[in-house]
Amino acid sequence: MGSSKQTQNTSHVDAETIGNAIGRFRARTDNVSMMSYCVGSKTATIEHALELVADALTQKQKAELYFHIPVCEKKCGFCHYNSEPQGRHAEETSAEYAQLLMGESETFAQRVPQIKEIPLNALYFGGGTPNLMPIPTMEELFDHIRARFTVTEETEVTMEGRPETWTKEKINAARKMGVNRASMGIQSLDEDILKAIRRHHTGAEAREAVKRLVGEFPNINTDLMYGLPGTTTQTRQTIDKFVGEVEELIGMGVPSITLYRLRIDPRQTEGSPLASVRRLFENSPELYPDIGETYEMNMNARAFLLSRGFVESPIGLFAKKGSRPKFYWGRWVEGFPLIGFGLGAYSYTEKVFMKNLGEHHDEIEQYMEAIRRGTIPFGTMKESTDEEFAARQLVLGLKGALEFDVSQMDLDRRDFFGTRVGIAVKKLIDEGFLAFDGKAITFTSMGLLFSEEILGEIWKSAQNAR
Ligand code: SF4
Repeated sequence: MGSSKQTQNTSHVDAETIGNAIGRFRARTDNVSMMSYCVGSKTATIEHALELVADALTQKQKAELYFHIPVCEKKCGFCHYNSEPQGRHAEETSAEYAQLLMGESETFAQRVPQIKEIPLNALYFGGGTPNLMPIPTMEELFDHIRARFTVTEETEVTMEGRPETWTKEKINAARKMGVNRASMGIQSLDEDILKAIRRHHTGAEAREAVKRLVGEFPNINTDLMYGLPGTTTQTRQTIDKFVGEVEELIGMGVPSITLYRLRIDPRQTEGSPLASVRRLFENSPELYPDIGETYEMNMNARAFLLSRGFVESPIGLFAKKGSRPKFYWGRWVEGFPLIGFGLGAYSYTEKVFMKNLGEHHDEIEQYMEAIRRGTIPFGTMKESTDEEFAARQLVLGLKGALEFDVSQMDLDRRDFFGTRVGIAVKKLIDEGFLAFDGKAITFTSMGLLFSEEILGEIWKSAQNAR
């Protein structure tokens, strides 16, 4: 499947071309990333969804598990993730959530026994802040998982954390339990920017945490954001500051780095704890870099990382050889079923998407009740139409591998370009965002800058086709 030829696509795009493309997509910082790529349009029952999961497990012979701990100590100003700030009760609350995760995964393992027969490609603890869990809780959860699922030497085991929570003790405990990939949100190393986005660590603490992690796990990822405000117009993020931080992190030995663009999420509504970055954007847009400069940050950091031997895959994640994460590649490119546990967690196979109850406050009690009763807590089950299935393969293949071989679609090339999805792709090729060499569809340099808008447009064309 995906070769790495696309990753050598380093050429720069001029500012005018970026400006035109921004107009084309009407891209602003308030675009919300769409994890709706997988949501089909046919509603399924829980029974049918579980049958489709069992079929997919039998067919794919590998699976991935995600465990969600929706707890943080404090809420960051930009965060739209499903996580509640719990202050000094955060550890204790995360331990309570871990009990729910054990109940839920136990029920799933009983209802879909095929999962036990299949080795896990990846196991992922996300959040929230999963390494807030007390060490005995982590141990209990790992023992529980190993007894019910097949974790092998090859399974990639990732745990997320923040600079403050990746302490020496947590690092040692996680290593002992089999975590082999640590991921840490840093977002910025700049003190003023960290203050503006209401991050609750300093740049110095982030650097110390990187030093603690490097060398302790076979793989480490750090997240950095671009398009960030400062508390004054002089201190906001610039292209040089951003690329300088990327350079500093790789200089410290970080083998994988993920770049995110700041989004002003409509869910950051007034009165919610997420409102601060949105309010700042509305009241003081001058504190933010403009959108053209924001895209240039991405382009410059990307060119820098590629020049240092990093390979991009999936989109936005740059890794040294051997550090490409299995988790994204497995579910997006290989099509391994993903089963997610926890409040609002989602699961999907190539044919069906399920979302747990609990993303919204009023569903939390229903989620807990389902766990207490030993039932599957899916709140949404959506099966894909044939057209959505094909579009999803294409969108996820592009997202994961940055290229997609059209012959994988069970359609000949002529047929593909005759479908609604194919017509949308052809338009994007004609406009210079995608390229087609007779076999594979890839992003152009400009297309990579607007990858999310492009993938959203392709997916929408499949939905319009129903
Ligand atoms: S630590 Fe992560 S999950 Fe928690 S509030 Fe901040 S960005 Fe959100």
